[in-house]
Order: sequence, then structure tokens, then C-alpha cells
Amino acid sequence: MSLTSLLEETRNLLKNNYLADDRPWVIAFSGGKDSTLVLQLVYEMLLELADQAVKPVHIVCSDTRVEPPNIAEYIHSSLRQIEEHAKKCRFPLFVHIVQPTPDESFWFNVIGKGYPTPTSTFRWCTTKMKIKPSRRVIDQIVKEYGGVIILIGVRSAESSNRAKTIKAREYNSRGMHSHEDIPDALIMSPIAQWDTDSVWHYLFTNNPAPWGTDHKFMLNLYRQANGGECPVALDLNTQSCGNSRFGCWICTVVDEDRSMRGFIDSGATELTPLYNFRNRLKQEIRPNSAMRMNQRRDGSPAPGGKGPFTPEARQMILKELLHLEVETQQALIDDDEMIHIQRQWSQDFDTRGTLVLAMAQKYGRNIKKLKVSLMSVRPENEKKDEILLELAAEHEINEQWIDELMNLVVRKYPPSNLTSNKKALLRDVQMVIEHAVTADRVAEENDF
Ligand code: SF4
Repeated sequence: MSLTSLLEETRNLLKNNYLADDRPWVIAFSGGKDSTLVLQLVYEMLLELADQAVKPVHIVCSDTRVEPPNIAEYIHSSLRQIEEHAKKCRFPLFVHIVQPTPDESFWFNVIGKGYPTPTSTFRWCTTKMKIKPSRRVIDQIVKEYGGVIILIGVRSAESSNRAKTIKAREYNSRGMHSHEDIPDALIMSPIAQWDTDSVWHYLFTNNPAPWGTDHKFMLNLYRQANGGECPVALDLNTQSCGNSRFGCWICTVVDEDRSMRGFIDSGATELTPLYNFRNRLKQEIRPNSAMRMNQRRDGSPAPGGKGPFTPEARQMILKELLHLEVETQQALIDDDEMIHIQRQWSQDFDTRGTLVLAMAQKYGRNIKKLKVSLMSVRPENEKKDEILLELAAEHEINEQWIDELMNLVVRKYPPSNLTSNKKALLRDVQMVIEHAVTADRVAEENDF
């Protein structure tokens, strides 16, 4: 089919479906060429419809918190331009950059819980870092409007598997099929029949995008990364972005991260330390049985002694990551992820709840905010101690006596051991109080 007929067919499909009902649209946008084409065709349609463009269009883009810095910068700046332009045009267009929550994040799972880094057979990352965050927004839209139409940039020409999947679907009369997991969601693939050359041709004969982004920058990224892209994953049938481009910089699913290698070979040498760290995690740390526990987190034996990372390995990975931040001057882990890591470590092995803060301080992180937040995740006993010390100060009681009393009820006579020792506890408490009263009187007499 010629590009002219392809274009006409796609434009008709979009326009007819947009005007056919009130269901809002969601465009799954990854910043790659295919989803950019879908977005551009929709945007051009909105411009043409002008006052008739009243139905909301949501752009959902996932940021895994471990995106390659150059890609993240490009996508965020494009989305900012789209948002600003749409606002000026008064389009009902909304941008959602979705991120995993701290406990869905890569670093919390690897460093906090000790999850072995993902592989093609243990690919926990896509669900946690992409599917769940996207689903939260889509579920919210479905809740608000009762249904949704999701536009994706898949194409038959991407691969023979992709062509088979597209062909095997059952389509309704409007060319859409149901989403497998989201009730009340229909999927439309408006560029399913476009070949790769037509995609590039359209983007470059219609450059810049209507919202102002120059597609040359994207082409350059593709050239550097040697082609391909990482699709927005809305379900587990979505092909792994591991083997293609624009995946997470830390992706351990692929054997060789060719896109990062391509960026570095094209001159982005600032990415070399990240590339090396990914390789170390995949090739040296993950396979090293000394860094893995013999048991799973639930206590059952781990096959081949390859359970989660040991506490020592987890501390080592965090140290190396913080060191990498200093080396690259890039923010690689957020405060909220570190807070969640500390919470997990406090449960698992760090009874004083101080290790993360100490490391953050050592590597020059701004720890003021972190410190306040970490106070709230310190072990229960420490928190209780702190409250008691505050009360002691308020009532002008010497901390020493509070310490001694706490010692009795927490350590010498813990609740589990109290029934038979109640009398002994009362006697010891009385002794502490008598000492305190005596010491107080002596201090008063001596005026110190
Ligand atoms: S790029 Fe790799 S690490 Fe990131 S979600 Fe995809 S498979 Fe997982």
C-alpha cells in the first residue's frame, strides 16, 4: 500500500473512532518512533477537529527510575513541549509520566529485599516498574469514565511474531480488540500496517512535530543505539524491551546492552561507568554464590543455594551505586527508595536502623531530609527510647534513670519473661527510683 493510501486509511480510522463515542483515549507513549507517529497523527487530528476536539486524550509514558539519562532527558523535554503546546491550543490532552512506587523500584527490590537482578526467565521488573504504574493511571481513567480506548504503536513489520499476534486477535467492527487484563478497555493499533520506512518517511517529511519537537534528535538517538526501541508495556505479552533499544540502563535481562554500547561508541562516554556497573552486576555479582543466601525470603531452601543477595552483598551494591553517583554526578537512586531500603534492612538485619544513612552521609548525599524520614523508620525500640527521652527532658528527669528503667522492662524482664518475675521487676524498679531520689537530693545539696 502506498504511503498516501496508508495515511488516508489511518487518519479515517482515527477520526471515525474519536468521534464515535465518549470513551477517552490513552496513548501509550515510549518516546520511540512508532508511538511518536501515533501521537503525531492523533495530534494532527485534534488540530483539524478544532472545536470538535473535546474528548480527553491521555498520554501515558513510563519512567522506570532507571532510564538511560540521555533518553530520560529527551522524553521529559518532549512531554513538556507537548503539554505546553496542548495547553495553548486548549486541547483536552493530559500527560502522565508514571513511575514505580519506591517499593516497586529496581533498587528497593535488589538492594532492599535482595531480589536477584532480572533475567529473561525471572523478569520481575516489567510488572513492577512498567505494567503496575501504567495500570494505576489507566484504572483511574476507567473508573472515572467507565471505559477507555488505548492506542498503541505496534506494527506487523516489527517481527514475524508481532505479525502473528496482530493477525490472531479478534477485532470488532471498528478495528479494535479487548485488553486481556483491563475490563472495559479496548486496544487500537492505528499503525499496525505501516512499515518502518513509511514511519520514518512520515516523521521526517512532517518535521518538526506540531508541538515543536525536532525529530532529528530522536533519529540521532536511534542511529547511536543502532535502531529499535523499548515499547510501553501494558501486559506481559509485550515483547521484552531488553533486547531492543531505550531500555533501562541497568537492564540485566540482555546479555549485552547494545544500545548503551552504541551511545558510548558514538561519543557519550559519560555513560561508560553506568555500562560497566550493569556488567558487574550481571556478570560478577549475580552469579557469585558467596553473595547469595541459601534460603529464600520465606525461609524455604533456595534451589542451588542461589537465594536473595546476602545482607553484605546488598550493602556492597548500595555502596557501589552511591560511589557511581559521585563519579558520574548523576542522581541514580532517590531518597524515598533509600528510606524504603532502610525500612527493609531494619527488618532483615540492621537492628539499629542506621546503615543507609551512614552510607548516604559518606557519599555526600544531602542527608537532611533523608535523616528526618529515616527517623520515622527506625526500629520500634529506638523510637520508644526517643519518645521517653523527650518526656524525660520535658519533666526534668535525668536520662540515666530512664535508661535504667528501660533496661529493666525491655532487656532484664521482657514481657515474655514477666509472669514469674513480676515481684523481682517491682523490687528493681523501686531500687532505681530510690537511687534517683537519693541522687537528686545529693545534687540539690551540693548545688550541681
Ligand atoms: S529494560 Fe530490562 S530491566 Fe527495564 S523493564 Fe525492560 S526488561 Fe526490565
